[in-house]
Amino acid sequence: MVSRLITLAVIAVVLVVVIDSLPDIKRYLEIRDMLDPEGVDLHEYGLAEGVLATVRQRAAGRKVAGIQVRFGVRHAVDEESMAQAFTFVAEGTEAASAAVTLVTVPATLACRDCGLTAETTDVLAVCPACAGENVDITGGDEMTLESITYQPVPAG
Ligand SMILES: [Zn+2]
Repeated sequence: MVSRLITLAVIAVVLVVVIDSLPDIKRYLEIRDMLDPEGVDLHEYGLAEGVLATVRQRAAGRKVAGIQVRFGVRHAVDEESMAQAFTFVAEGTEAASAAVTLVTVPATLACRDCGLTAETTDVLAVCPACAGENVDITGGDEMTLESITYQPVPAG
């Protein structure tokens, strides 16, 4: 009888602990989703922080409505992921509600077999002319803040 009571008490304590840690589990799952390579990953976060630093420097306190950034194809940046990452890192700053437009800049492919030079957005490219794999890919690694638009300052 006593041992059964102890067992019940132990079960009750375990339940309380589990219920109590549910928000932590939820937070853990959120963080795990955030780091999911299929979604927004650390790659975009790192780049978004770099972009934010430049945006804040230029904005100097003005409320940012939108930004346009150019990323070389080699950065393999996805617009939606970048916008999400930017919104996350920019929270609480003058760029918090900025819309993010991404322009992907192609790399240059030079074929050592047939001599073709062409732009490519595929960094694992084969030559589009001779299908050779002896290609050099150059460029496509730039990262530029192209433009910023600001929210209108309320009159008065
Ligand atoms: Zn070729």
